[in-house]
Amino acid sequence: MDYKVVVPMPPNPLELPLAQISGVGAARAAQLQRLELRTVGDLLLHRPRRYEDRRHFQRIADLHLGAPALACGTVTASGSRPLRGGRSLFELILDDGSGRLHCRWWNLPFMRNYFKTGDEVVVFGKPGSLRPRTMDHPETEVVQSLERSVHLNRIAPIYPLTEGLPQRWLRSLIWRLLEQFETAIPEPRPNRPLAGRNLTVGGQTVPLPSRAQAVRLLHFPEELDDADIARQRLALDEYVELQEAMQARRRNLEANARALPCAGDNRLMKPFLAALEFHLTQAQTRVLGEIRRDLAGPPPMRRLLQGDVGSGKTVVAACAALMALESGSNVALMAPTEILAEQHWRNFRRWFEPLGIAVELRTGTTKTGTPAGQEALALGGPGVRRARMDIGTHALLEEGFAPEKLGLVIIDEQHKFGVAQRERLVRKGAYPHLLVMTATPIPRTLGLTLYGDLDISVIEGGPPGRGRIMTFVRERESLAKVWEFTRGQLAAGRQAYVVYSRLEAEDSPAGLKAVKKEFGRLSELFAPWRTGLLHGRLPGAEKEEVMAAFRANAVQVLLATSVVEVGLDVPNATVMIIENAEQFGLAQLHQLRGRIGRGAADSYCILVTAGKTEEAARRLKILEETADGFRIAEADLALRGPGELLGREQSGAPPLRFGDLTLDGPLIEQARDIAKGVK
Ligand code: ADP
Ligand code: MG
Repeated sequence: MDYKVVVPMPPNPLELPLAQISGVGAARAAQLQRLELRTVGDLLLHRPRRYEDRRHFQRIADLHLGAPALACGTVTASGSRPLRGGRSLFELILDDGSGRLHCRWWNLPFMRNYFKTGDEVVVFGKPGSLRPRTMDHPETEVVQSLERSVHLNRIAPIYPLTEGLPQRWLRSLIWRLLEQFETAIPEPRPNRPLAGRNLTVGGQTVPLPSRAQAVRLLHFPEELDDADIARQRLALDEYVELQEAMQARRRNLEANARALPCAGDNRLMKPFLAALEFHLTQAQTRVLGEIRRDLAGPPPMRRLLQGDVGSGKTVVAACAALMALESGSNVALMAPTEILAEQHWRNFRRWFEPLGIAVELRTGTTKTGTPAGQEALALGGPGVRRARMDIGTHALLEEGFAPEKLGLVIIDEQHKFGVAQRERLVRKGAYPHLLVMTATPIPRTLGLTLYGDLDISVIEGGPPGRGRIMTFVRERESLAKVWEFTRGQLAAGRQAYVVYSRLEAEDSPAGLKAVKKEFGRLSELFAPWRTGLLHGRLPGAEKEEVMAAFRANAVQVLLATSVVEVGLDVPNATVMIIENAEQFGLAQLHQLRGRIGRGAADSYCILVTAGKTEEAARRLKILEETADGFRIAEADLALRGPGELLGREQSGAPPLRFGDLTLDGPLIEQARDIAKGVK
């Protein structure tokens, strides 16, 4: 007989469900689940929202007005009384020998159940008055000497909670789990020890702690800096994991994917460049060299083309498209708005149709395009296939769009799309080359985490011969002057954008009504010059009509919502007025400003603010001072975080629990080295 001995695998203790931990009943487990905490491991990584330094008690007599402080005293009296309007006040008086402190809570009558005279109570809060000494709604704990070491006399973690889950209970549980499971927390890469690596904390270099140490310090730091050391170590692990995933994806692509060779033979490029009304800049030529090398394959190109607004990315995309088309492949270009797709379609048709290339437009509302068979017939009979370029919006992602021999995919204003959308378009071909373009300058650190799997090309500076862009911040009160100035520009033959500020104004009926009212006002104000209205809710054909009129200078003032943010190119427009500018992020304002300064004449961007708050004024000043998109992006990143910089649509932003892209530049660089196996 042959017996097989089945040894149960020792379960990974970090995967133990919290419900199986003694002291965690079904009700508590359900509350924890609402915080997405299911296992021991989840709870050990539950990040405190903040910390309270409970090592230093202040004498009640020494409390300062408005300065948060920790005090401890004996309850000498407590009680609640009803107030008018169904409200109530609960008051607790503490005495620590040096003085008395009145603690007050409104509308929390049940507080009276928590305290009795003689209890020793710790409170943390801001004194709101000194005569008598008072704290309103302080945090409190009744001292129970047993738990002293967990909650008091230390730097205490304050966790995010959910309804019904007590801070103290959670803190005790985490303490207990740490005691039990700390040694079970593994190093993520045991064969590649991180010994010898350092962190910078508060200007000091400190050795990297082990992951287990970091988890303990995360919850129970000995010194204030420890919490940051812990955060950085755990963030490093997150970044390494991200980088490894991206590098693996990249390696896999290089090893397995075979793209069509698309470097071209200059057959179409030569006549194209000869007919182009300008010469490519050095930067554009250099980037094209980088793209051509990639397109030769066989690994598919994965390249991000970054260049500030107006730097001339479109023509680079056109050249890349020509290389693919010359090689017998078809090309698809996706843009985030109908207006922009339509503009590209216009340009590419003008450029490519003389070369015998069909350029088709596909948006939600338009579809040019001819069935493949018909096309072949039109061009000299079956068997002769005409090279084809499709330009469109998200409509290109629909199933109905199934291009043959898709060799190159180009995505304009890539930050407006999610990574999933990018991949969906790529999957329309076998392994097409991919060129994504963005005018949102991504600070390097963000680029490494978001685009670690892409090579990056940068166009520095724009084409020569452009006028200056001057930027001014003005308050609403001076609008009359702003309009007068604008009329002056119109009289000089220029055109103007007025961006109606209220974000998403067209999304609500009331907002749309406001836009239309504003339109009526401006039409009168600027008569006899003509004003056009452009917003996201307009039917596609009407959008085109308005844009065409503005482009042709049949309309001189374009009142628009932020739909004009991306890509529009009307060189004769020299004025950009943005109302309620404080409601936009800096990077977005920079994009809007990029609509002007595209011709030889000087341009003017006027940021109109509703009310001037200090903070808004300081932010907008950055735009007055610099036109450097990178500096603006850095500032935006620091001021508003990555979400704002990337826009709401960006679904590719990694979910970071400990990482903070605004702080972690050096960590991210370390992570890349670790992921690559660099010492
Ligand atoms: P963006 O990088 O913002 O997409 P565009 O591609 O729309 O910029 O280019 C802005 C303008 O600059 C367009 O009118 C384009 O024709 C023009 N342009 C691009 N490259 C050059 C160049 N090398 N010399 C002169 N003008 C150029
Ligand atoms: Mg563009």
